Amino acid sequence: MPRQKIDNLVFELTEACNQRCRFCYNYWRDGSSPIPAPDPRLCRRTLRKLLSQVSVGTISFSGGEPMTMPNVTDLALMCRFKGCGVNLLTNGTLLTEDHIRNFKEIGIGAIQIPLLSADPAVHDYLTCLTGSWEKAVKALRAVTALNPGHAYAVLVMTKVNAPGIPDTLELLADCGVRGVMVNRFNLGGQGLLHRDELVLDRAGLRQAFADVDAFAATHSGMRFTSGVCTPMCLIMPSEFRHIQFTFCSTDFNRRPVAVNFRGDVRFCNHSPKVLGNIYQRNISDILADPAATEYYNAVPEHCRDCRFLHPCNGGCRAASEQVYGTFAAIDPVLD
Ligand code: SF4
Ligand code: SF4
Repeated sequence: MPRQKIDNLVFELTEACNQRCRFCYNYWRDGSSPIPAPDPRLCRRTLRKLLSQVSVGTISFSGGEPMTMPNVTDLALMCRFKGCGVNLLTNGTLLTEDHIRNFKEIGIGAIQIPLLSADPAVHDYLTCLTGSWEKAVKALRAVTALNPGHAYAVLVMTKVNAPGIPDTLELLADCGVRGVMVNRFNLGGQGLLHRDELVLDRAGLRQAFADVDAFAATHSGMRFTSGVCTPMCLIMPSEFRHIQFTFCSTDFNRRPVAVNFRGDVRFCNHSPKVLGNIYQRNISDILADPAATEYYNAVPEHCRDCRFLHPCNGGCRAASEQVYGTFAAIDPVLD
């Protein structure tokens, strides 16, 4: 029988990370339990199991920090042999020129690295790792030099770094980056502990997107994408014409599913709810379970009659799960 195809999948190689970003949405980073060390053997076994169950179009290596995994290149190669595209979502601090050359050799697609400010002190404050700015900038420059066209930056927009957005974008342009994800801070994980310090209010968020839009209007060689779905009653995409806004679908065929190194399957990488484990059931059966479909089809009361329900869908409701424990509530950013 032909294997089911999943177009986009986020594979979390480990929960471990060398940074402790104040904005990190990883649900296991809420301070409630210790984080286990990377487990290369289990990770390899799970990836092999996953790729035996489904065919994947593009797999994004994430974490935690995927570069803490010593066999990350071998894992990427395993995916490439199975015909998958591979992207790497890394904080860049552990990425060496040898890694970049090896990744180029095996045909890795995007290498996505966060750069939060042009001011090293602001970046390091947000990552809680002294020296991380210097390493992230070095990594971005190395990717653009050694594998042009494959460097992507992530700018998480918070109250702390928003005033410096124009300078940060100038630095990214200078690094040779052509694609930037401009993501609003999304509630979850470690970020819940820093909510008051980080969440931009409506005016602040609008200003942040306006700054990006103005920069994008004069830099036609760069692409800007808002990768965290934002309620349209908060930010109306049509007002920021130079930014591409993306929205999640509740349809598993039209959005990335998350699987971690233990084989746990989740709605997406922001969602804490485990739908099943691939060592117990085939991932196709987990995703086709009517109980999961019913759970994700819930529409928040607030949005029921809204004309923007499609595509807005109530914003990021994985954040609702992290804050309220339910997918049926509206995105907590509207609180
Ligand atoms: S946001 Fe990424 S780099 Fe920062 S702590 Fe979380 S997993 Fe690590
Ligand atoms: S669907 Fe809900 S969150 Fe989205 S614009 Fe309408 S009311 Fe706002």
